[in-house]
Amino acid sequence: MADSSYRIRGATGDWEVVIGLEVHAQVTSNAKLFSGASTEFGAEPNSQVSLVDAAMPGMLPVPNRECIRQAVRTGMALEAQINPWSRFDRKNYFYADLPQGYQISQLYHPIVGEGEIEILLDEKDEGSAKKVGIERIHLEQDAGKLMHDQHPSFSYVDLNRSGVALMEIVSKPDMRSPEEAGAYVRKLRSILRYVGSCDGNMEQGSMRADVNVSVRKPGDPFGTRTETKNVNSVRFIMAAIDYEANRQVDLIEAGGTVVQETRLFDPDKAETRSLRSKEEAHDYRYFPDPDLLPVELGEDFLTECRASLPELPDAKRRRYEEVLGLPPYNASVLTAEVETARWFEALLDILGDAHAVRASNWVISDLFGALNRLGRDLDDSPVSPKQAAELLTLVADGTLSGTLAKQVFEIMLETGEDPGAIVEARGLRQTSDTGAIEKVIADILAANQDKVAEYRSGKDKLFGFFVGQTMKAMQGKANPQVVNELLKKALG
Ligand code: ADP
Ligand code: MG
Repeated sequence: MADSSYRIRGATGDWEVVIGLEVHAQVTSNAKLFSGASTEFGAEPNSQVSLVDAAMPGMLPVPNRECIRQAVRTGMALEAQINPWSRFDRKNYFYADLPQGYQISQLYHPIVGEGEIEILLDEKDEGSAKKVGIERIHLEQDAGKLMHDQHPSFSYVDLNRSGVALMEIVSKPDMRSPEEAGAYVRKLRSILRYVGSCDGNMEQGSMRADVNVSVRKPGDPFGTRTETKNVNSVRFIMAAIDYEANRQVDLIEAGGTVVQETRLFDPDKAETRSLRSKEEAHDYRYFPDPDLLPVELGEDFLTECRASLPELPDAKRRRYEEVLGLPPYNASVLTAEVETARWFEALLDILGDAHAVRASNWVISDLFGALNRLGRDLDDSPVSPKQAAELLTLVADGTLSGTLAKQVFEIMLETGEDPGAIVEARGLRQTSDTGAIEKVIADILAANQDKVAEYRSGKDKLFGFFVGQTMKAMQGKANPQVVNELLKKALG
């Protein structure tokens, strides 16, 4: 897909939307970027604050090797340039959640340079792939959190987040529709979770995006952009883009000009509002942090980072298609989340790769359907990969028909029992006993003489009726293939 067909229809013609995202991802690490304080979510306010995080005078930051490692591994996963020399800068501003009076960030020399992410706009179609450029990834500190009480009016500050490591992942202005931006964030989140460098939990604030949007007539130079801050779900990111792009088109067509400004997204109204314009923007007076040495990455460190990377979603998807023979849609769905791929691979470890296609269909339709119905996730699935392998084996060896397998699966979901035990205890085994099936068929034909005559005079469609009746009389336990053969013989 070279160009998106997404356009905004204005009074003066069609407009194209240009989008660039700055995603803040909390680095998975037990300790903060420059202190040993814990990063665990949900602790009592101010229970995870070291003297460094509280910015006590004279405290010195000490870089956390693990946070640097995670940023480098992420850069490698995005096929980005890794900068062997980078440096931390101070970004100076005052806010009550920032006791230092500056944020330690990387402006001039980020740890990771240009890379790219491939997105698929249609999971069924490799041809819908598009590459979105990554501009850079830098490391920086998170700030604390303010909480406001109305009655009586108080503000509280929780510094647990203060100093937690964030990766800021800056895209190029390569996206052209809300859908592309949504696919980009989902793909980025998937890669981060495969790598294990961010848990991707948007509800807990582990990932949030600043959304840059401008509009132009196709072929024109880029227009002036606005930046909508801290949007914290894929749905909201898409809604913010949609609102903001339409607002800009309306504004320009009414004779106005877009001003470069920072905006906020209001999820309740699905609209953006101006927060501050660039004219009032701070001069952050960036300068290299004198308390920190530049970060220099050695060969051994880089080798270890690379070796520690797992098979990533794109490579896995291609392997599922090319080596396991899965249809593109199945490969895409099963590799989108690292937990899904792990579950599927645990199943294949037992079942064998030769059964991959059948297993993939079962996971996607039967298992996901059931989990959906039960409102549960794969990580608390009532059925284990081992039990699923056993069920699929019972189908492969003819013990269970498709219909019976569905019945057994329902019982597994309810009771948690193993399929073999269920088949034994409830006599759900499929029968290929031709004598028994022939007897049932004879009864059905005798009871439906009119339909038999219609079938014989050419109404082929009735065959399904006879199959249905036979299966029903056999309580679903007859081998469908045998039923088909015997029916053809009896009716022929
Ligand atoms: P700044 O340093 O002022 O924040 P950057 O060049 O770092 O600006 O860009 C920030 C983000 O804005 C990037 O994700 C980039 O892709 C995006 N961006 C830049 N120009 C535009 C534009 N005209 N329209 C939409 N997004 C843009
Ligand atoms: Mg920026």
